[in-house]
Amino acid sequence: MDKPKPSNFIEQIISQDLRDNTTERVVTRFPPEPNGYLHIGHAKSICLNFGLAEEFGGDCHLRFDDTNPAKESDEFVQAITEDIRWLGFQWHGEIRYASDYFEQLYAWAEELIVNGKAYICELSPEQTREYRGTLTEPGKNSPHRDRPADESLTLLRQMRDGDIEEGRMVLRAKIDMASPNMNLRDPVLYRVKQSGHHRTGDSWHVYPSYDFAHGQEDAIEGISHSICTLEFADHRPLYEWFIQNLPVPSTPRQYEFGRLNLNYTVTSKRKLKQLVDENHVDGWNDPRLPTLAGLRRRGVPAAAVRDFCDSLAVAKTDGTVDMAQFDHFIRQNLNDHSPRAMCVLNPIKVTLGNWPEDQQIQLAVPNHPTREEMGERHLPFGQVLYIDRADFTEDTSLSKKKFKRLVLGDYVRLRGAHVIKADAAVHDEAGQVIEILASIVLNTVGENPPEGIKPRGVIHWVAAHDCVPCEVRLYDRLFSDPEPDAGDKNFLDSINPASLTILSNCVAEASLTTAQVGTTYQFEREGYFCLDDRDGTTERPIFNRTISLRDTWSKK
Ligand code: ATP
Ligand code: MG
Repeated sequence: MDKPKPSNFIEQIISQDLRDNTTERVVTRFPPEPNGYLHIGHAKSICLNFGLAEEFGGDCHLRFDDTNPAKESDEFVQAITEDIRWLGFQWHGEIRYASDYFEQLYAWAEELIVNGKAYICELSPEQTREYRGTLTEPGKNSPHRDRPADESLTLLRQMRDGDIEEGRMVLRAKIDMASPNMNLRDPVLYRVKQSGHHRTGDSWHVYPSYDFAHGQEDAIEGISHSICTLEFADHRPLYEWFIQNLPVPSTPRQYEFGRLNLNYTVTSKRKLKQLVDENHVDGWNDPRLPTLAGLRRRGVPAAAVRDFCDSLAVAKTDGTVDMAQFDHFIRQNLNDHSPRAMCVLNPIKVTLGNWPEDQQIQLAVPNHPTREEMGERHLPFGQVLYIDRADFTEDTSLSKKKFKRLVLGDYVRLRGAHVIKADAAVHDEAGQVIEILASIVLNTVGENPPEGIKPRGVIHWVAAHDCVPCEVRLYDRLFSDPEPDAGDKNFLDSINPASLTILSNCVAEASLTTAQVGTTYQFEREGYFCLDDRDGTTERPIFNRTISLRDTWSKK
C-alpha cells in the first residue's frame, strides 16, 4: 500500500484558506506562452495546477500568455493544447488568452495615467538602463515622470493607434526608482510592437508586459491561487501593487515553487528552440528532446510523466532531478502495461537441420508474463529462424555463467519455443559467421529437455518465413554532460554524437504487422519500443526505443 503523501506547502496554504473562508472555490491556471512546445518542466506545473484543482474540487484554467506577438504562433497554441490533453487533463471552460483581455488591460492602463500612477517615458533603451540604477545603487527618476496625465494619455493613444515606432516610448508605472526591488523601479506596462498578432491580427500596436497582464488576468478569471516558478518571487510585490491600485474584480494571491530541472538535458524553451531551429534534432517532437511531444513520440506513457511529476517535491527551492528517477517511472509503467513481442535487431540466420523444410507451425505465447487479461498471440515457427548476432559465439571457452546464450556445440532455449543446439557455423570469405546450423531438441516446447541437457539461457528469435522487416532507432541521451548548460557552458558543446543509432535490417515477429502507431512494446531482452510510423516508400515499420530494460548508462 502506498503511504499517503505528506501535503506540500501549497496544499497546506489552500487547506488553511478554505478553513478560514478566505477562499470559496479553488481556481488555478496554467499560463503557457505559445512561443515553443511544452517540456517536462511544464508538466510539473501542469500536474500541480490541475492536480490542486482536482484535489480541492475547484477548476483549472488554461490561459495562453500571448502578449509578445513576435515570438508566438498558432502552431504552438495547437501543440500545447494537444500536449495537455495527452497528459490527461481537461481545463475548465473555454481556452483563455491574455489577448481576450487586451481591451480591459488597456482601459486600466489609461486609468493608472489618470490617477497619476503611470506615465509615458521617452528615454532610449540605453538611458533607461542608466536611470535604472543597480542592485546596490538607487535609480533616478525619468525626466518624463511628472509630465501631465493628459500628455501621457495622448501619447499612449498614439502608441495604440500605430503612430509611434517601436522603441520610441513606453508606458511605465510610477512606483519607486529607489526601491531595493528592481521590479518596482517604474516597470514597463506597455510597449509598441508592430508585428501582427496570431489572434488579434493588426488591431493592436501596443502590448502589455507580462507583469502588467498576468495578475489582472488572474483577477478577471477569479483565480484564487496563482502558482508560478521561483523566478517570479521578486515580481510578487509588483503583482500585488497592480491588484491594489486597480479596480479588479477579485484578489488573487501568487505563490512560487521550485522549477524542475533534469540532468543530461535542457529545459529552457529558448535552448530547445535553438536545437530545433539549428537542426541539431529533427523538430520539436524529436524523441531525444524532453518536450512532451518528443516523449510521446519516444513512447513514454502520459501516466509515467504524471507519476514522475507527482513524485517530485513541491518546494521553495529549485532543484535538479536525476534522469534515472524519471526513467524509473517510465520502466515501471511500461513493464506493467506494454505487450511483449520479439524483434531481432541484428539478425543472423539459423537453419534447423532436423526440422522439415515445409513444416510451419504456430506457437501460442502470452502477451504479458503476469497479466493474463492481455491475452496471447501466435508465433510462426519453421525451419529457418533469425536470432541476434550478439546471442551466438563460437568461443566454447566461455563459461555458462558468463554467456547465457548460444555457443557452438551447446544448447539454448528459444523463448516460447524449443530448445536448440548449435551444430556448426557457416562463414563467409572474410570469416564472418553468416549462418548457424542447428537442431531442435524434440518435445521441448513448454517442457524440460531430457536429463543431461542444460540450456545456457533463453534467447529471442523470429521465424524467417513470416516476419516483419523493420527499422529500429536507438536513442540515447542528447547530452553527454550531466549539466549541459551550467554556468557559462555552451550546451551545444556537449551534444552526444551517438544519441541516435539507426538499425535498418531488423526483423520483428509477424504479429507486429498490425502494430498501432504510438503503441509501446517490450521487445524481449532488448527494451521498450514504440511504433513511430511506417517508412513512406518501403512501408517498413519504424520503431523508436523508448528506454532500455535496465539502466546501462551508469556503467558507461
Ligand atoms: P522556459 O524558461 O522554458 O521558456 P517559461 O516559464 O518561459 O519556460 P511559460 O510558457 O511561461 O514558459 O511557462 C508556463 C508555466 O510553466 C509557468 O507558470 C512557468 O512557471 C512553468 N514552468 C516553466 N518551466 C518550468 C519548470 N522547469 N518547472 C516547473 N514549472 C515550469
Ligand atoms: Mg514565461
